[in-house]
Amino acid sequence: MHVYTDAAMRDHVNHLSHVEVPERFPAALAGVEAAEAAGVAVEWRACGPAPEDTLHTVHERSYLEKLERVCNSGGGFLGTDTAAGPGSFEAALLGAGAAIGAVESALSGEAAFAAVRPPGHHAGRATAMGFCLLNNAAIAAEHARSGGADRVAILDWDVHHGNGIQDIFYEDGEVLYLSVHRSPFYPGTGAANEVGEGKGRGLTINVALPRGSGEDSYGAAFIEVFLPVLREFRPEVLIVSAGYDAHAADPLGGMRLESDSFGRFASALDALVHEIGAAPLAVLLEGGYDLAALTGSITSTLQGIGQEPPNWSYLGDDRYVEESRRALAPYWESLR
Ligand SMILES: [Zn+2]
Repeated sequence: MHVYTDAAMRDHVNHLSHVEVPERFPAALAGVEAAEAAGVAVEWRACGPAPEDTLHTVHERSYLEKLERVCNSGGGFLGTDTAAGPGSFEAALLGAGAAIGAVESALSGEAAFAAVRPPGHHAGRATAMGFCLLNNAAIAAEHARSGGADRVAILDWDVHHGNGIQDIFYEDGEVLYLSVHRSPFYPGTGAANEVGEGKGRGLTINVALPRGSGEDSYGAAFIEVFLPVLREFRPEVLIVSAGYDAHAADPLGGMRLESDSFGRFASALDALVHEIGAAPLAVLLEGGYDLAALTGSITSTLQGIGQEPPNWSYLGDDRYVEESRRALAPYWESLR
């Protein structure tokens, strides 16, 4: 397991958020260290700032210039919930660089985790949003494609819908985006009937769950929708946007997952990539705002890779998962 990080990611400050705090960074590293102490073979990897040409495959030049200017002038506000400080541009570049490193490791046969902040999945081509500055998962996906991977999938289990990733690839046709998230909730997108447009029709997969959902509903989303679609799509690499704010202890999420739930998600996806002959997982940190839950959930995720897949069994259908299955059935034989 390659772990990409850089101490400068602690230097990002967002004065508009009382939860996306620098203390998340040591809490995330503590999760990796606990996994290592429990026997996970961790190889720490340094990362450099993401190269400009890779950033330009996702973000508009004018947006990157503005971000750099704001940070270099001491920081400022970039949106209603997103601010940056003097160290934020460098932290964001290193975060994107860590995501690139993780996907490179995956493509060379080694599972990887990028312990990064700020998170990325709400960032659009020209917008900072939802504590996110650069869209790390999208940048990693574009990097994989530039290296020759034709089919890339991003699975996002953060409690919030990753509207930035969805928008960037909505009409793409080669990148599959799958998200399970709370709804109605911030940022307001991610309904089951948002399935992509043009060449991308059917390649956006949304499972929207109500407040208070637990692992039974999430397991149903994996079994009934995500795993069949991934088997049919056969990505060459699977990037995981791993937010931990659906944990029961999270101050924002309102969901009921346990730390071990994330280990079972990782096991299920790890087993799947082996089954279909895809690269090992590239896991990128997104949200997660209870520090102890963040640590425990990351440990569980890293331990889950290489474990037997979970034996989820259900007595009944989940009607929210069923709604997604029905919306996507026209595009996927395995969902009919
Ligand atoms: Zn989130």
